[in-house]
Amino acid sequence: MDGEGLRPLTPKYTNMAKSSWFILVELLLLLECLSHLSISQGQGYDFFYFVQQWPGSYCDTRKACCYPTTGKPAANFTIHGLWPNYNNGSYPSNCNPNSPYNATKISDLLGKMEVDWPTLACPTNGGTRFWTHEWEKHGTCSESVLDQHSYFEAALNIKNKVNLLKVLEDAGIQPNDQFYREPQIREAIKAGIGYTPAITCNTDSSKNRQILEIYLCVDASGKDLIECPKFPTRCKKPPLQFPIF
Ligand code: AMP
Repeated sequence: MDGEGLRPLTPKYTNMAKSSWFILVELLLLLECLSHLSISQGQGYDFFYFVQQWPGSYCDTRKACCYPTTGKPAANFTIHGLWPNYNNGSYPSNCNPNSPYNATKISDLLGKMEVDWPTLACPTNGGTRFWTHEWEKHGTCSESVLDQHSYFEAALNIKNKVNLLKVLEDAGIQPNDQFYREPQIREAIKAGIGYTPAITCNTDSSKNRQILEIYLCVDASGKDLIECPKFPTRCKKPPLQFPIF
């Protein structure tokens, strides 16, 4: 016996052992990345953004704005969408091409949708194009929890619970073409409904920044408001115009 098995490793063997470790660590990192990729490409979500828009600002962002066949919507916030989102800020989209928008599934909700979720793009298409887009891009990504009827109903129910315009008007913030500071708007909503919103803005043709959308967060069941795990990019400066509609 020359005791070969007990000899210390030569530099060659030490290097091989080191590179095996590196390969193992790299494989683990790759697996970690792949698991994130599969999450962000499809199944599951952490919470919803419930997004309402101020129609006056939306119309100011466009050359033309078309009113629904039912006429000019009331001067009130309207729904833009209920969007599944991940806690890291990314979101799934267009999750099921085999689940097209189907108005017959929500025929009992259409009257309410025309009021609370009106289309303002041209041509109006009776709202079908807007609702189709929202269902196919966003709604299909929470379909395991909310089928098509439950999805649109969930958004209408939240809208019912949250009267943004009243909360703002009670705090002296009115759609009268005046300008209001973002913290004033945010704090009025937080005080009125108990949850912190995110306010996004647009720029009109006179270069005024305006209140465009108010984001609130809703838990994954689509029922209850929650504090946002992650905010979208907010408009903090300068003061924002609340245009007459
Ligand atoms: P999303 O992809 O869900 O962020 O929605 C963006 C699309 O919705 C854009 O094409 C917008 O022009 C459109 N959009 C937003 N609000 C309205 C509205 N009130 N009526 C019609 N289309 C809208």
